This record gives sequence, C-alpha cells and structure tokens, in this order.
Amino acid sequence: MKIGIIGAMREEITPLLEIFGTYKEIILGDNSFYNIFYKNSEIYIAYSKIGKVHAALTASGMILHFGCEKIIFSGVAGGLRADLKVGDLMIATKLCQHDVDISAFGHPLGFIPESKIYIQSDSKLNDIARLVAKKHDTPLKEGIIASGDQFIASAEKKRWLIETFGADGVEMEGAGVAVVCDLLKVPFCIFRSISDSADGEADVSFDEFLDSSARVSANFVKNMVDTLLQ
Ligand code: SAH
Repeated sequence: MKIGIIGAMREEITPLLEIFGTYKEIILGDNSFYNIFYKNSEIYIAYSKIGKVHAALTASGMILHFGCEKIIFSGVAGGLRADLKVGDLMIATKLCQHDVDISAFGHPLGFIPESKIYIQSDSKLNDIARLVAKKHDTPLKEGIIASGDQFIASAEKKRWLIETFGADGVEMEGAGVAVVCDLLKVPFCIFRSISDSADGEADVSFDEFLDSSARVSANFVKNMVDTLLQ
C-alpha cells in the first residue's frame, strides 16, 4: 500500500519525519516529498505550504505522480466549539470551502456548480481512527471543518462560520485535499489538533501551540498508519 501524509507547514510534518527517521527526498513542483519504506509499504510525507491551492497540488501529486492510495492530513486548526480546546484532536466528518461565494447568481455560500458544499471524508478511515483512539485511550473529537484562504482571528468571523456552515473547526487546506481526493476517488481523512480558538487572540495562541498541537496530530497519525498496515 502507498499512503500519503500531508501537512500544510513544515512544523506539521517535522514530528512525523522524526518518528519515521529514514527517508528519501523527492522534489516535485518545488515541493519536497519524503519517501519512506515501512512495513512492506511506502509512505510519502510532504508539507504543501499554506492554503487550499497548495494543498490541492500536493494531494494531486501524491495520488497521480506517486500513486498514493490513501491520503491522511495531519495538522492544526482553529477550534470553533467551546469543547474544542488547544491540544484537542479532531477528525473532519465533512469539509467545505467557506470563502467560495458566487451567491450573486443565487447559489448558496460555499457552493460551486457541478460540485457540492460539503465533501465527506472516508467513513472507513474515520472508523479506523475511532478504533485507534479507543485502543490508545486518546480522546478524538469530530466535526465539520471549514477551509478558506484566511487565518480566522475574530469573534465575528468565527460566529459567521458556525452559523453559515455549522463549522466546528477552521483551517486553510482540508477542503482542498477533500476536493482532489473526492474527484480522484481516493479515500482520505483529516486530522487536526487545535492550536487556537479563531478569536482575537488566535495569532498569539497559534504561535504558542503550533509545535505541541502538530505533535498531537502527528503522533496519532503514526498510530493510524500502524493500524492501516498491520
Ligand atoms: N504563522 C504562519 C501562518 C499560519 S496560517 C506564518 O507566519 O507563516 C495558519 C495555519 O494553521 C494554516 O495552515 C491553517 O490550516 C491552520 N490554522 C490554525 N488556526 C487557524 C485559524 N484560526 N484560521 C485559519 N487557519 C488556521
């Protein structure tokens, strides 16, 4: 099996590269892909750079160039629900693009013709994630993730995301990966550990907790990979 693991920022994949230890670097589209042989399988790890376009390119490269059969995203996000606190880990049950707006033509926010507002992540991978969480006694939360090319750091915008999309978490890449995987029919799941609450203090919180939250997600993803390859 070939598994692709994507982060947005270097900090999000560093813990994974440390865990796996030995890798070969392959450059494609000015993007480093770290190739690892593990348990008779291949893993490709890369950080895409921030934003949906970069994430979509990395996911496409993983699938179309390297032949990855499953995609896992590991990273951090802003928590929109009161029970999603810094360091908590969540999976996205479905994802949307909160910055898509062609409502001038009567379409709902987040909707693109011939596409859909929400893209479901893979239910089998999510079930495996729930089992891994149980096995390792790790609390795993779930919810809707809204992605957009904006760092959300305001109570007002946060409220709007909750009211408009029912979003529980916000980040900048998940939906880009979701669109690519959905169209190319490759199962994917999105793990995010909370780095901030997308409010007025989000930037300070993000800087303080990026590394520790990225590690929470990466450690879980390692356990997920072990379960997928057993
Ligand atoms: N400090 C960085 C920019 C971080 S952007 C720099 O200066 O380069 C935030 C990253 O973390 C994105 O990859 C996004 O997916 C995620 N993220 C965490 N909290 C977020 C929030 N409140 N809003 C949007 N994205 C968030």
